[in-house]
Amino acid sequence: MPFALSLPSDFDTRLHAFQAQEIPNLIADLEQLVRIPSISKLPEHAGDCLKVLECVSELTQKLGFQTEIVKTPGLPVFIGWLETDPNAPWITIYNHMDVQPAEEPQWESAPFEPLLKDDRLYGRGSTDDKGPALTTLYAIAFLKRVGYALPNIQLIYETEEENGSGHFGWFLDHMGSRLKTPRSILVSDTIFEGEHPALTYRLRGLLQAEAELVSGSMDQHSGLVGGVVENPLNILIRALATCTDAQGNVTIPGVSAPVLNAEEQAALEKTAEVFDIQRLHQDTAGARFYSEDPREIIERIWCRPTFEVHGFEGIQTTPKVIKSALPYHVKAKLTLRLMAEQDPNQVLQALEKHLQSCHPAIQVNDRGQLRGCKTALDALPMQVAAAACKFGFGKAPLIVGSGGTIGALPQFQRVFPQAPLVLIAQSLMSDHYHGPNENFRLSQIHDGMRTMAAYLYGLTKV
Ligand SMILES: [Zn+2]
Repeated sequence: MPFALSLPSDFDTRLHAFQAQEIPNLIADLEQLVRIPSISKLPEHAGDCLKVLECVSELTQKLGFQTEIVKTPGLPVFIGWLETDPNAPWITIYNHMDVQPAEEPQWESAPFEPLLKDDRLYGRGSTDDKGPALTTLYAIAFLKRVGYALPNIQLIYETEEENGSGHFGWFLDHMGSRLKTPRSILVSDTIFEGEHPALTYRLRGLLQAEAELVSGSMDQHSGLVGGVVENPLNILIRALATCTDAQGNVTIPGVSAPVLNAEEQAALEKTAEVFDIQRLHQDTAGARFYSEDPREIIERIWCRPTFEVHGFEGIQTTPKVIKSALPYHVKAKLTLRLMAEQDPNQVLQALEKHLQSCHPAIQVNDRGQLRGCKTALDALPMQVAAAACKFGFGKAPLIVGSGGTIGALPQFQRVFPQAPLVLIAQSLMSDHYHGPNENFRLSQIHDGMRTMAAYLYGLTKV
């Protein structure tokens, strides 16, 4: 039975009054955060990553949070605690305060000078992920001011998300027992499915690897000894070609797609009904698809592993020049997107075993792993979130998967395996995540805050 969210009778009226008064302040805070170019990929902005956390420290202290900025071997992490009831459970709220670079020539305004135009606030980081963090903070402020129940809250804002969250696991381990064990973890760093609010229950993992093959110690003449000495590039290409079939399905023994349960199947069907395939064709600039069936497209993105060859080392790359030499040492750059059900290490071994069955001298090198994530659809916080979206956005959410990866999440699942991850989208595709003219709509700010207020309140009732 779905969770019934029962809000106090004056919740809506009071929330409207609070929003009328406070949304201008939220926008001013967001402008302040957007002005700080906290670009984690560029080392010269490391100081800005610290500055943005100092700024959120100030904002959250005003709300009563105890705060700390934790230095890591990489960029810092902010942590804040708000205990309202020593007997109440804790939840964790995760956001990131770093942003993508903003060098695209198509920006119509300066990316780090926020611009409020029509119903949008433009600026790098406005929707990814500073705006969604602030709607949640203001939802907390609302519940506190009116005196409604709210869970004890542990905020964690990192500044390396756009650069792979390389030290997030370090941070969690370093904090150790100082971290409150959360009952659930709220993340809002995802996007609506078209016009529909969305709860993401699945994210794929990622394995990066190289396949390497060496024969001898120098390049060979293709006329003098071609056909006699092995060409490592030919052999590697043949082996890599056996990792997928012509439809792009992975054919490496031991690397299979998970079997979906009935609820997951139903979620897939529901999204397939409203899926905008034309939009995906536009977004992918005319690239051909393996399938034109919406249901299969979604299943491929959410629930199937991939194997992709991205490039080679040790090969000729000068355009139009063909040198008739056989390379002696080649490497292929590979990635596999994986399911939460798959252990990247086991997949690495399966890949090596398979490639070595094609040629025993092929070596596979690990170049980084991120595990996939999955939240059980019947987890109570997911049901609270669905009810909260209905209240806040006025529509029941779609339950979706994501083909991508948020680096911090597998670390959370490692350290807090019992805590469901609840990913509530507040952003829209048209907000231009990672692109030029990134913006956050005022209507999303408004409805996002409503959703978060209902969600946090609802959590105290389960
Ligand atoms: Zn983000």
